[in-house]
This record gives sequence, C-alpha cells and structure tokens, in this order.
Amino acid sequence: MTREICRLGVLTSGGDAPGMNAAIRAVVRACVYQGIKPYGIHEGYKGLINSQIELMNARSVANIVHQGGTFLKSARSQVFRTSDGRQRAFENLRSADLDALVVIGGDGSFAGAAIFEEEFGVPVVGVPSTIDNDIFGTDYTIGYDTALNTVVDAVDKIRDTATSHNRLFFVEVMGRDAGFIALNTGIGCGAEEILIPESDQGIDYLIQSLESSGRAGKTSSIILVAEGGWNGSVFELAKALEKRLPDYETRVTVLGHIQRGGRPSCFDRVLASRLGVAAVKTLCEGESSVMVGVRNNAIELTQFTEAISKHNAIDETLLEVANIVSI
Ligand code: ATP
Repeated sequence: MTREICRLGVLTSGGDAPGMNAAIRAVVRACVYQGIKPYGIHEGYKGLINSQIELMNARSVANIVHQGGTFLKSARSQVFRTSDGRQRAFENLRSADLDALVVIGGDGSFAGAAIFEEEFGVPVVGVPSTIDNDIFGTDYTIGYDTALNTVVDAVDKIRDTATSHNRLFFVEVMGRDAGFIALNTGIGCGAEEILIPESDQGIDYLIQSLESSGRAGKTSSIILVAEGGWNGSVFELAKALEKRLPDYETRVTVLGHIQRGGRPSCFDRVLASRLGVAAVKTLCEGESSVMVGVRNNAIELTQFTEAISKHNAIDETLLEVANIVSI
C-alpha cells in the first residue's frame, strides 16, 4: 500500500539531542527527493499549536549536519496534553494542508503523536532522539553516542585530578530511569564502580568494593552514578561514604547539560540520516503510528504503543565486564 503525501511537517520535541539537526535535514531532503513539500514546525507541539509552520527546501537545511541542538527548536508543551490544545494543533495543520507528520523526539513525544493520530487521523512516524537510549524498538537513539563521547572526555579529565590527589570522585551522568550512559561510559572510562537504576546494590556493597580496591593498591577512584542510580542525591551519597570511610577525600561532579550539547558524532549523523530518510519512506509506504529504529543494523518499525510501554533491558554481560575490568 502506498500513501500520497503532498506536504509533510517535521518537528523536534522533548529534550534536545545532538543529531536532531541531521535528522531534520534527512527528512527535508528525503521529502524533496520524493517530490513532497517539507514544512518545518518550530518549537515542537507548541509551534503546531501556535502555527509556527514554515515551508522549507533542500537549502533550508544546509550547514546543519554538524551542529548540536535543533535549529527548529524543541519544547515541552503542557497545552498539547489537553484535547483543546491538540484540536488547535490539528486546525493549524489542516490550514497548512499538511498530510503527515514526522516527530523527532523521545517516548513522551511519541505518546503525544499516538494520541494525535488516533484523534484526528493524521499519519505520524516517530524518529527516536534522546541521549538516554531508553526507547524500546531501537538499539540506538540519536544523540546517545555523542553523549557517551562527551562523558568519556569529561571523565578522562576528572581522572587526571583524581589521580593527582588520591581522591574519590563521584560523577553523576544523565539517566533517571536507565543506566545505559553510566554503564557504557563507566566501562569506557575505567570507573571503579557504576551505580545504575537497574542494579542498586546499596552503600555496604560500595564500601566493600572500595575497601578491596584499596587493598588492591588503588589510590584514587571514579564512581559513575546515573541520575537514578542512587536512592537520593549524589552529594548525600558522597557525605555518607566519607562518614563511613574517613580516609577518603570525596568530590562530586554533576555533568548535567553538557551531555546534551556539542557536535554530533559521525555515528549519530549517520543514524539520524538513515532514520530521517526511513521515516519519510515509511509514511509514503502507507505505515503510520510507528517509530523507525535500527536493530541489528537494519531499519525496523515499532508501533508507538510498544515503543512507549516497553523498555530495553540493560545488557547483563556488560555488568559482568564492568566488574571484571575494574578489579
Ligand atoms: P526526552 O526523552 O528527552 O524527555 P520526550 O519526548 O520523552 O523526550 P516529554 O517531555 O516526555 O519528552 O514529551 C514531549 C512532549 O510530548 C510533551 O511536552 C507533550 O507536549 C507531549 N506529550 C507527552 N506525553 C503526552 C501525552 N500523554 N499526551 C499528549 N501529549 C504528550
């Protein structure tokens, strides 16, 4: 089955991620390639509600493949969560004569897209883009690889200070519900311990581990903590640990928003280009209410309902690797 699309809207929604620009570029150019008019919607669903819709062409997306963030801007819109807000969004979409939408964002954005399609019959395809890599149906989300490299770069620098002063550094990275960033960067940076939401082992375990590191001759340590990897703040954790192990001088670094920024890695640019092209193709082939992802290096479609409700499990073998390489 094919679908005739004359005008297609593209927007970025939720938290920004490096590679969103490359994804917009791919969508716009895939449209032009297929004879579809591409429209950029500024500021996500908020821009749809406020009718910030602009006709684009292949040149509108020149010189952005290498830039972080999203030139269309992203937003979190409370109004879109209401049926009145979505009604206004639909009316603007109809005034602009848009036949279909590509939504680049995270699972929240797909939840909004699924409701919008169900209510108004507008075909939508999602492109997974979030640094957390926590979306079911794809091995990688756009922005994750760049975020990993940003964290590794920062922790390498912190290690120089840690080793120069015999300090114990806690580095908090993003990942409220998923420890993919912490686990992978922890291995990549040679962290002594990695605290992730999927495997909370408690302070006693941490103390035992540090004591055995000390006996093994380690004089400084780096502990990677996912935002949700500890029940409480990382500052409280550092204090609690100093109380129990007074010989340790602890420091805390919260990497925060630097993890979202920066030029996308080559991996993210290629992923974004593949997924952007695949999203337009998918809509033209008559599919919708799905997310395009990459599994085992092939493009795969996942229903929004599944992408929203399911979660990728952490790779248990990586936990074992982390334990082995940190002795
Ligand atoms: P990130 O993973 O970076 O947080 P996200 O896409 O999950 O990205 P959210 O803030 O959860 O980010 O969602 C983005 C926007 O999608 C929301 O601000 C809201 O406008 C819309 N949205 C999310 N959930 C719903 C919903 N249940 N109904 C309608 N709209 C929704």
